[in-house]
Amino acid sequence: MAKRDYYEILGVSKSATEDEMKKAYRKLAIKYHPDKNPDNPEAEDKFKEAAEAYEVLSNSEKRAQYDRFGHDGMRGGFGGAGGGMNMDDIFSQFGDIFGGGGSPFESFFGGGGGRRQRKGSNLRIKLKLTLGEVANGVEKKIKVNRLVNAEGVTFKTCPTCGGSGQVKKVVNTMLGQMVSSSTCTTCNGSGQVVDKRPPGVDSTGLEMQEEVIPIKIPAGVSDGMQLSMSGKGNMSPGGGIPGDLLIVIEETEHETLKRDGTNVVYDLYVSFIDAALGESMEVPTIDGKVRIKIEPGTQSGKILRLRGKGIKDLNGYGKGDQLIHVNVWTPKKLNKEETDLLKKLKESDNFQPKPGKGDKGFFEKIREFF
Ligand SMILES: [Zn+2]
Repeated sequence: MAKRDYYEILGVSKSATEDEMKKAYRKLAIKYHPDKNPDNPEAEDKFKEAAEAYEVLSNSEKRAQYDRFGHDGMRGGFGGAGGGMNMDDIFSQFGDIFGGGGSPFESFFGGGGGRRQRKGSNLRIKLKLTLGEVANGVEKKIKVNRLVNAEGVTFKTCPTCGGSGQVKKVVNTMLGQMVSSSTCTTCNGSGQVVDKRPPGVDSTGLEMQEEVIPIKIPAGVSDGMQLSMSGKGNMSPGGGIPGDLLIVIEETEHETLKRDGTNVVYDLYVSFIDAALGESMEVPTIDGKVRIKIEPGTQSGKILRLRGKGIKDLNGYGKGDQLIHVNVWTPKKLNKEETDLLKKLKESDNFQPKPGKGDKGFFEKIREFF
């Protein structure tokens, strides 16, 4: 989607003064503010769009660049115009727009206390999984140290705001004097502060507690993937929404099996005698050993497939296979007797390589399997 012109977004002319733009932006910011338009993504987009336009046009350098090069001139150097601004950036901009410090913006909407509930912080843990656990999924109980609302804590009315959660002050703005209210920083808007607390409890009434949390890891996760358990992070002081528990997956290496997407690859080494005569052999799989048959006359590099012995697809698209890569082992050292024997065999025409139609080259093999 093409970006709209910044002047058009704010509804001002190209020669608009700083004041005109400020007024225009203020109007839009109030109209599309998320508090006035809950669950309205269209309004949120408009809100962000206006913030971005104002961010650029209110800065004389950026404005000059935009006037010369348009949106192309905004790429690089200024993240906001490229990827859109985040809400925190936008709200921090308001101090400038509406005068005063903090977040006086709230006063335009009657300064509803606790309008943004404070969320507890997220917890992040690493979880090591074996190839088998990755392949089939697993349920684990993990120990987590999280901050919880402590027992035996008494609260009292916040001395700073008197319990309203808001601090009012008179500020001078371009529109004249007005009363601004912002969230009380002493109580973070809850109107209460901790009065008495048992030892080990912090000043917000939280204490560290070890908890065992059962988690279900789906089959097919991979190294570095992050799973999120909503509400299992640190609790919020005063009983807001708890943070999330973020679980970062770490795959431990298997002794003999290598993972390749949903497939598992195993390198099998066989003697050239077994390759020539054929042999039955045990190979490891994720679910234990299985016996496979090496056909007489098996060539080095052949790939055998054990269907369904791989890893389940994370999105439920079936299960991968185990691929067995056959390597014919050439002896590195021979004694006199062995050397004589082999020299005798060398005379047989059967020991001369005669690759034919049935012997697939490297590329055919790769194409066959991937
Ligand atoms: Zn307070």
